[in-house]
Amino acid sequence: MHEYSVACEIAALVKQTALNARVTKITLAVGALSGIFTESLVMYLDFVLPDMGMNNALVETRDVPATFSCACGVEYVAENIATVCPACGAFTRTIKAGQDCIVESIEVDDD
Ligand SMILES: [Zn+2]
Repeated sequence: MHEYSVACEIAALVKQTALNARVTKITLAVGALSGIFTESLVMYLDFVLPDMGMNNALVETRDVPATFSCACGVEYVAENIATVCPACGAFTRTIKAGQDCIVESIEVDDD
C-alpha cells in the first residue's frame, strides 16, 4: 500500500503545479533504492488521477539506477544493494542517486 500514498502525493503535487491547466503527461523518475514498485505506482495513479480531475494524463516512468560514491573517489552504478566498489572493493559508500521517486516533468494543454 506504500505506492498508494506515494500516488496520492504525486497527484496532489501535479495538480498544485498545473493549477487549472489540463495535464496531458507526467514523467516520473523512480529510483532503484526508493522501495517503490513502478508497476504498482502506475496502477494506483490510474485510479487517483481521474479522481482528482486529471482524466487523460499519460504516466511515463524512468528507472533511475542506484549510484554510489566510494571513499576512494569512484562513482559506480550498483546492480544490487550488495555490489561493492569496482575499483577498491570497499562497501562503505554514500548514495548519489536512486533513493527518490520524483516528478521529473509535467506537460499541460493550455486550451
Ligand atoms: Zn572504492
